[in-house]
Amino acid sequence: MLWSLTKIIAFVLLVTALTYGGTQLMEVDGGTTVDVAGQEFTLSPLEMVFALVALVVAVWLGLKLMALLVATFKFLNGDETAISRYFDRNRERKGYEALSEGMMALASGEGHLAMTKAARADKYLKQPQLTNLLTAQAAEMTGDRKTAEETYKKLLADDKTRFVGVRGIMKQKLAEGDTDTAMALAQKAFALKPKHEETQDVLLRLQAEKSDWEGARKTLGAKLKSGSLPRDVHKRRDAVLALSQARDILDEGKTIEAREAAIEANRLSPDLIPAAIMAARGFISEGNARYATRVLTKAWNAQPHPDIAAAFAEIVPDETPDARIKRFTTLTKATADNPETKMLMAELQISAEDFPAAKRALGDLVEKQPTARVLTLMAAIERGEGADNSVVRGWLTKALTAPRGPQWICDKCQHIHATWGPTCDNCGAFDTLAWKTPPMSEVAMPAGTEMLPLIVGRAADAALPSTEVVEEAEIVAGEPPK
Ligand SMILES: [Zn+2]
Repeated sequence: MLWSLTKIIAFVLLVTALTYGGTQLMEVDGGTTVDVAGQEFTLSPLEMVFALVALVVAVWLGLKLMALLVATFKFLNGDETAISRYFDRNRERKGYEALSEGMMALASGEGHLAMTKAARADKYLKQPQLTNLLTAQAAEMTGDRKTAEETYKKLLADDKTRFVGVRGIMKQKLAEGDTDTAMALAQKAFALKPKHEETQDVLLRLQAEKSDWEGARKTLGAKLKSGSLPRDVHKRRDAVLALSQARDILDEGKTIEAREAAIEANRLSPDLIPAAIMAARGFISEGNARYATRVLTKAWNAQPHPDIAAAFAEIVPDETPDARIKRFTTLTKATADNPETKMLMAELQISAEDFPAAKRALGDLVEKQPTARVLTLMAAIERGEGADNSVVRGWLTKALTAPRGPQWICDKCQHIHATWGPTCDNCGAFDTLAWKTPPMSEVAMPAGTEMLPLIVGRAADAALPSTEVVEEAEIVAGEPPK
């Protein structure tokens, strides 16, 4: 309200001032003579004011016009960058389109298409770190090893893609069976990315294959540190490696160092049977029967195994059969129901020539788990009790086709091994051997039955002493199933 009033008053004042000014100028006499292009104009003071105002307006208009011209020029220039940008964007779009199509082709197993798309993407994108990987994988898929390797080598040049390149070449070398180069590359990849799980596994497997136990233990330690291996598994595998190390040292003739390594392996994993046996043998050679007994008892309680029993017998090599039975009874106290315990006690009773006790020791194994070993023991017992040859032969015939009971079997490929080893002989997997019953319980013997009277007849007719019958039958039954 007050503001409007002020504006009205200001307007009235301005009009009054202008009118007054104009009247004053009209009343002033004389004028100014202006000389434009040879012509003279005489302007009255009022005209003079108008002329000045017109000049100011003209200059202002001129300036505006110039700015417009500059703007137009800039606009034309700008239009050109916009056009080139448009084309660039188009190239990029085409490049990414080719890249994604290439990836799709790769995922759906169309190697050749993927390679064509990779070449197209490379042409448009000019980003080799993106397209090289696609090219390499597509080349690998189509079996073009040369292109794949060349492309992986290109990836080595850039820090960002070096690991991918190393890994790619490493996998190629592994596929070619060039394990030496593969191992060198695995070590390089491991140095670049120590936490990469696949690299750790490849390196560990190669180190184990090449008996580089020291290196393998380091890799295993890195696996534990990076969290890709649970602590208990690490401990167990470290024990396997320490044991393998101990075996190698023993082969070199360094018995004391080997003993220490075996004891270390046993400490890490008391249920690792070969480690317990080796450690116990170390203690036995030191004359430390107490420690040997302790180590073997612990291992036996974890997993009864004939090799543990054999090492346990070595603690007191020249004892009487009765003393041995007594000592073994303490070993097997906690595992009385285990088939291994039953068979072991039966064997000890047979060697003490107490055949009824041997039969009692076997218990219901003959009915429930008639393995080749159980049936052979039965043959020995019958022979010891003075049974007819035909009875003994009957048991041995059964033993031939009976399942063989637990063995060292690879958890990964089910390959059966005669003795324990850190890696599988068949698939090369590390620490997969377990003492267990093979999945196929029946041994197939096609066209073998007519041979039986010949084989068994020979064993029985020779009238061998009981233990030798057992041995011979075990050799016959011990042939691996084909
Ligand atoms: Zn295997």
